[in-house]
Amino acid sequence: MKSIIFIAPPAAGKGTLSRMIEEKYHLPHISTGDLLRDAVASDTPQAKELKQQMESGVLISDEIILNLLTERIKNSDCDNGYILDGFPRTIKQAEDYEKMLKELGKTLGEVIYVGVSKDVAMKRITGRVSCPKCKAVYNEFIEESKPKVPGVCDRCGSILVKRSDDNEETFQVRFDTYMKSTEPLIQHYEELGKLHRISNDVSKELAFKEIETILNGGN
Ligand SMILES: [Zn+2]
Repeated sequence: MKSIIFIAPPAAGKGTLSRMIEEKYHLPHISTGDLLRDAVASDTPQAKELKQQMESGVLISDEIILNLLTERIKNSDCDNGYILDGFPRTIKQAEDYEKMLKELGKTLGEVIYVGVSKDVAMKRITGRVSCPKCKAVYNEFIEESKPKVPGVCDRCGSILVKRSDDNEETFQVRFDTYMKSTEPLIQHYEELGKLHRISNDVSKELAFKEIETILNGGN
């Protein structure tokens, strides 16, 4: 198996695709957010320092993130590959990561860009409602994800709520910012011949098939 680096704009459905790969290929899913949370929860002097940094809103340094990531992928569960989510975000991070892999004798694997059109992504975000009680998530604009009764949780009957930052304007900005800031990274992997573009506009099953083709050596 190979490792996968996911690059995906907001609402591209990366989370769902990751879970599908995890289930079928048993690759661990590594997100830098989770690594940081675990590090903070651990009982070490570094945890305390890290916690203070995160609470004060200081940007966590590349070095700390890379160290956490290095320790994580040394675990034997990563021997057959892993899914990397949310990292790297910059060229500098990408290059440091490649250097680290070389030192560990590991390969980069494949970089998969999950494309999504802005319209589809917008529907996924602005239609999202969730249950405050049982945490079930629905989408008012997507047929197969609608609650049976509008505004009411299928599972427990609670009134569904929308997140305040799930509005059109906020999403536009998030989406455009992401696209712009990721351009250099995409170019970097394109130059390395490692970038694969797939689309997750139509269905997750179709997107998943494309990923499997990539993992099996096709394009
Ligand atoms: Zn509920």
